[in-house]
Amino acid sequence: MKKSCIKVLKNNGEPLRRELLEAELLDNSAKIICQGDYLYLPLTREPQEYEIRDLPGDLKLTEHEFEEQKGQLKLEDLLDEVPHFELIGDIAVIEDGVLEAEKVAGAIMKVKKNVMTVLASLGPVEGEFRTRRFRTIAGEDRMSTIHKEYGCRYYIDLERAYFTPRLATERARILPQVENGQTVVDMFAGVGPFSIMIGKKSSHIRVIAIDKNPDAILFLRRNIELNAVSNVEAIEGDANLEAEKFASMADHVIMNLPHNAHHFLDAAIKLCAPGAIIHYYDITPEEDLFNSSLNLIDEAARREGRSIEVTETKIVRSYAPHQFNVCIEVKVL
Ligand code: SAM
Repeated sequence: MKKSCIKVLKNNGEPLRRELLEAELLDNSAKIICQGDYLYLPLTREPQEYEIRDLPGDLKLTEHEFEEQKGQLKLEDLLDEVPHFELIGDIAVIEDGVLEAEKVAGAIMKVKKNVMTVLASLGPVEGEFRTRRFRTIAGEDRMSTIHKEYGCRYYIDLERAYFTPRLATERARILPQVENGQTVVDMFAGVGPFSIMIGKKSSHIRVIAIDKNPDAILFLRRNIELNAVSNVEAIEGDANLEAEKFASMADHVIMNLPHNAHHFLDAAIKLCAPGAIIHYYDITPEEDLFNSSLNLIDEAARREGRSIEVTETKIVRSYAPHQFNVCIEVKVL
């Protein structure tokens, strides 16, 4: 099978292999190739430019044919049915109600050597701060971890602040839209996965990251340090109120508060400099994926004497039967 890979001199192979593994970029299902003086390390996905610029050794991004790595223990070898689970740092999260949860947890820990804890969620995300409760099923009894995503690191306590790795690709989709010299307001920043990734892209981007949950802001401040992004400002408070301080300053406004973002649309429009983009997230039914949300954004713009141009409407992921997490992007004129 042909795969994206990194070509590197043999001598620099081992430190690079370890870095790629840490960043979950090394594809363990394929065998590393040794050819002449070079190693070819297979990748799980195309890395962002900034993810590889700090990697050790003189390396080149290329493609190569790879053979499958045989003999690796798989979950399918240990379980009749493999339930869905999320990997957040060294914690695996399964849904509560999974049959034979202890057996599943044991299998996950056996196959995924970096997993130290298996948690079961005790229900959906809830409340203003969008948090979940968990019980420990296997491994160390803790809710905190460091999750790595696209070259950034996030300290998270899963019971105290919201985080999902399922939006990783969506966050990476926004990144190229933000340019040097621009200001981004992340109205519901959580522990900072949008803000920090954008801040890390360039020190010439200013990111204002707001969240009402004091714990999320505590972790966000820690993550700003962890990722050395001094261009990200963490603000604890209500997005509607805090936004007033940054009127007409934003080139991008990120509104990742599905279900409730419409309560913050007037503030978001006020934030927008002419031509700014609002990235609006919602949960919508399949029979009305975008129209009702678009009407709400349009009405908010009109109230401020502004108009909008729709630049993107997309399904981000399936949320529940017949319900989708969508993103709507509009330019505010
Ligand atoms: N953007 C983050 C992410 O992708 O992980 C967090 C998204 S989470 C769905 C929504 C966040 O909005 C939570 O962290 C919650 O605390 C925050 N929040 C809820 N109401 C808020 C408000 N009135 N003002 C600011 N933040 C709020």
